[in-house]
Amino acid sequence: MTIKLHNTLTGKLEDFKPIDESEVKMFVCGPTVYDFAHIGNAKTYTQFDVTARTLKYLGYKVNYLVNITDIDDKIIGRAKEKGVTPEKIAEEFETAYLDDMKSLNNTSVSKYARAHDYIAQIVSQVERLEKKGFAYKISDGYYFDISKFSDYGKLSGRSSLGPDDAVSRIDENPEKRNSGDFCLWKFKKEGEPFWPSSLGEGRPGWHIEDTAITESELGLQYDIHGGAVDLIFPHHEAEIAQMESISGLKPFVQYWLHAGFLNIDSAKMSKSKGNFFTIRDVFEKGYSPLALRYLFLLSHYRTPVNFTWEALEAAENAYNKIKKLVDSWPDGGKVDEVYKEKFIEKIENDLNTPQALAVLWTMVKDKAVSLEDKKATAKDFCKVFGLGL
Ligand code: AMP
Repeated sequence: MTIKLHNTLTGKLEDFKPIDESEVKMFVCGPTVYDFAHIGNAKTYTQFDVTARTLKYLGYKVNYLVNITDIDDKIIGRAKEKGVTPEKIAEEFETAYLDDMKSLNNTSVSKYARAHDYIAQIVSQVERLEKKGFAYKISDGYYFDISKFSDYGKLSGRSSLGPDDAVSRIDENPEKRNSGDFCLWKFKKEGEPFWPSSLGEGRPGWHIEDTAITESELGLQYDIHGGAVDLIFPHHEAEIAQMESISGLKPFVQYWLHAGFLNIDSAKMSKSKGNFFTIRDVFEKGYSPLALRYLFLLSHYRTPVNFTWEALEAAENAYNKIKKLVDSWPDGGKVDEVYKEKFIEKIENDLNTPQALAVLWTMVKDKAVSLEDKKATAKDFCKVFGLGL
């Protein structure tokens, strides 16, 4: 049997086949560390943790890379507000982020890569893009010329911004050749961090950080790239344009996976709208991290979820119930193969965690399965769920 994944690039459910059977290479866009992560971010990272766990459960070795955006306008802005250096803001919120991930049991990442450690690789990518005629220089930096890349728009089906797109930097300059051109290297501005380079003193654009990191760590092409749907355009579209222009190899990434939003009152939860709860807000209200995790697993990763405290309360009750049951049962059982087969069928169908949880509950209630075997089976499924059973 083969796991099937929904690929945004083709719009289809596809059989997953890694480039190299001996190791799946997977990358997910990480946080911009200027504030505490909210529970929308937590949903996306939990669902990709489950993706990596599922692939491992199915026998793959997984190299799972996440970047940390530690150079960014938002970080610089927050540092100015607080009267501290951008490095201090980035360090503080990276530590908070990693602590939050640990409490949620998001532990499958093989490596976190900080943008500022890849300046040389970023500069090299911009140089190669310029040499090949895809990048040009204007007064405030180097830009990517989208008219030179005929596949621009192939992931999102568009080339202009929509209302819920994540826009970390508005790259506006009247000298740009096309309005959709995006910045690759920003020249130094007074009071902002910069790096000396052959391009001139400056700092990287948002999109180039990810392709420089993945080229260094995973190579020119890799298997899975994830994020929530707000990153499809322009961020992921820009990544494709950069990397396929540099390497000439297509596709840059084989499977593009996108998680649905966590909404609140049907609007995307986001820092800029102010309609968010941080992961810490939820824990401070007394809810357990693994109950929040359980809530995320109750919906398919591509389905948008409307957050309510009632839903979290229900998830907490269900989680506590199953945890108590499993803890009360004796050890020494073996995994029930019939239920395992049903469980695999669900997770292999585009990571259907709600149906896989339903299999867990049916197994738990099945009087024909001994208590020892129930415990062993629940623990086995938990390699995927990460629920600490
Ligand atoms: P950011 O720190 O804003 O760059 O976001 C980090 C990750 O969280 C990215 O993968 C985003 O796509 C994702 N994300 C942001 N807002 C939401 C949301 N409301 N629901 C689900 N994922 C989100």
